[in-house]
Amino acid sequence: NKIEDDYVMGEALGKGKFGSVFLCRSKATGVEFACKTLPKGEETVHKEVEIMQHLSGHPGVVTLHSVYEDAESFHLVMELCSGGRLIDEMTKEGRYSEQKSANIFKDLMLVIQYCHDMGVVHRDIKPENILLTASGKIKLADFGLAMRIANGQSLSGLAGSPAYVAPEVLTGDYGQKADIWSAGVLLHGLLVGVLPFQGDSLDALFEAIKSMQLDFHTEKWQSVSKLARDLLERILTRDVAARITAEEVLSHPWMMFYTERTL
Ligand code: ADP
Ligand code: MG
Ligand code: MG
Repeated sequence: NKIEDDYVMGEALGKGKFGSVFLCRSKATGVEFACKTLPKGEETVHKEVEIMQHLSGHPGVVTLHSVYEDAESFHLVMELCSGGRLIDEMTKEGRYSEQKSANIFKDLMLVIQYCHDMGVVHRDIKPENILLTASGKIKLADFGLAMRIANGQSLSGLAGSPAYVAPEVLTGDYGQKADIWSAGVLLHGLLVGVLPFQGDSLDALFEAIKSMQLDFHTEKWQSVSKLARDLLERILTRDVAARITAEEVLSHPWMMFYTERTL
């Protein structure tokens, strides 16, 4: 079947580096999905599909429903996240309460922990790739840069988005902990409404990532708890071995204190 046989294509939902994402509706059931169309010749499509299938067992991962192929493109029919992107909500909100930050961050860490347990490094953790359901639950999307690595194996080569990239990605070998760093950059954004590392040029940004110390004495940090600052410091630690894991983030006192307890 061709995708047009099974789905009615609708409005554009987003545009990425390689492809576009459109709303679509199943002709058989009337259910709406998101369709990511990627031009052929991109070797990485197969990997993106394979990893999404490999990770399908977690509610925090965008579900891949089906895949179509035609002469020019692959079409990935995915679960629709009608709440939009976390980045847009962050831009609207400015900064989040600690309680809201902690609840979002907990859900993000649970899905990152799952990816890591499944041997996957996402490599592009940022709020543009975190989507929201109609009820506001987060879904991790965009596995276009994700890699499967065996235990103890490491990756090399620059990948990701400059502001979120971990220092070890800039200088050498890296693994799962690179995702934790990127999530820490996001947590900084949630808590104070700005990203921690900035620069007028890419070189200046990378220099900041490699060496700039966080300064918690500034005005914007005065209303943020010591526990939150402690967690952020443990995440944005340049020594990869000393950096906290997803599991350790989840049991950090800040998480315990600010997230809703389920019995
Ligand atoms: P790229 O690899 O090109 O960055 P993404 O997978 O991140 O592609 O998708 C690009 C954009 O399309 C996202 O930022 C989002 O706005 C939109 N999008 C992607 N997947 C979905 C989805 N399942 N539901 C709703 N919107 C989506
Ligand atoms: Mg993306
Ligand atoms: Mg991508």
